[in-house]
Amino acid sequence: MLIVPENRIADLMTEEAAFDAVEKTFAAMAGGDAYNFPVVREAIGHEDALYGFKGGFDRAGLTLGLKAGGYWPHNHERREMINHQSTVFLFDPDTGRAKAVVGGNLLTALRTAAASSVSIKHLARDDSNVIGMVGAGHQSAFQLRSALKQRNFQKVIGWNQQPEDLPRIENVAVEAGLPFEAVPLSGMSEADVVITITSAFQPLLMNDYVSKGTHIACMGADTRGKQEVESSLLARAMVFTDEIPQSVSIGEAQHAVAEGLIVEKDIVEMGSVIKGDHPGRTSAEQITLFDGTGVGLQDLAVAASVVDLAVRKGVAIEVDF
Ligand code: NAD
Repeated sequence: MLIVPENRIADLMTEEAAFDAVEKTFAAMAGGDAYNFPVVREAIGHEDALYGFKGGFDRAGLTLGLKAGGYWPHNHERREMINHQSTVFLFDPDTGRAKAVVGGNLLTALRTAAASSVSIKHLARDDSNVIGMVGAGHQSAFQLRSALKQRNFQKVIGWNQQPEDLPRIENVAVEAGLPFEAVPLSGMSEADVVITITSAFQPLLMNDYVSKGTHIACMGADTRGKQEVESSLLARAMVFTDEIPQSVSIGEAQHAVAEGLIVEKDIVEMGSVIKGDHPGRTSAEQITLFDGTGVGLQDLAVAASVVDLAVRKGVAIEVDF
């Protein structure tokens, strides 16, 4: 069995490779070649942690496995660790034998950023100028860095519950040579693309704060009860997602569906847009909303590509297991 430790991932995986792996995975899911297993995600009653498993099987890529881990909200303040902690396990689909253990923290950030970027690539207006960030936690910098590659953005605006964390996204804007402005949530009406990436359980981005033609990537809601945008916004928007069963159960759409504002069949899988089976955005005025719930197959795709790279570069640790 091979081990690729967390501290080797940064030298192996690139933002571009993660984007490619995630875009291909979404397409494979829409083609029926790959499927996710039901997610287990539990509040374990210790450290306020949410812990669970996301797994799946890609028949085309022959990738089988799971990611175990979750969200420990006090890590940062008490232990100077990031709140998200995860590990990916890959298995040989021919025999069931454990094949690899891969550090999943950086991979999670890269594959989550890749998912919202894939949605921006396929759904945002080509003339998008201003990008708005709701949230400035660990994931936000990855999200913004990757999103900035998708359009010729001219300005970044941002809001965070703790304004002192806004420099995290301001620094990414500055790196890209773009101006940054801190705004109230209502200021998001200036944005052509908005990414929400918070741990909120109450709506932050209200329907009134969103202008016509905006693309919104809702990336924070990945658990029952979490919510970042007002549910009526989903009724106003054309809604896309990585996977419909996750979207309606643990994603942003869970609330709009429960309130009867939209139904499951109103939601379109991103993979069908990538494959050209759905047109995606159909007008410049339309609001498009991507509910990025995070699927196990995304984790497996980036982990499998890291294992290949680690073997090629001779940095995978082999153990007799
Ligand atoms: P983090 O702990 O580093 O940052 C949390 C962010 O949420 C901060 O911006 C904080 O200000 C904000 N926040 C927390 N509670 C809030 C509230 N009540 N109201 C407004 N803002 C609030 O976390 P992170 O690693 O950046 O992750 C952010 C979120 O993204 C988490 O909920 C995490 O579970 C989710 N996530 C989703 C995916 C996916 O695939 N969809 C992947 C990774 C992380």
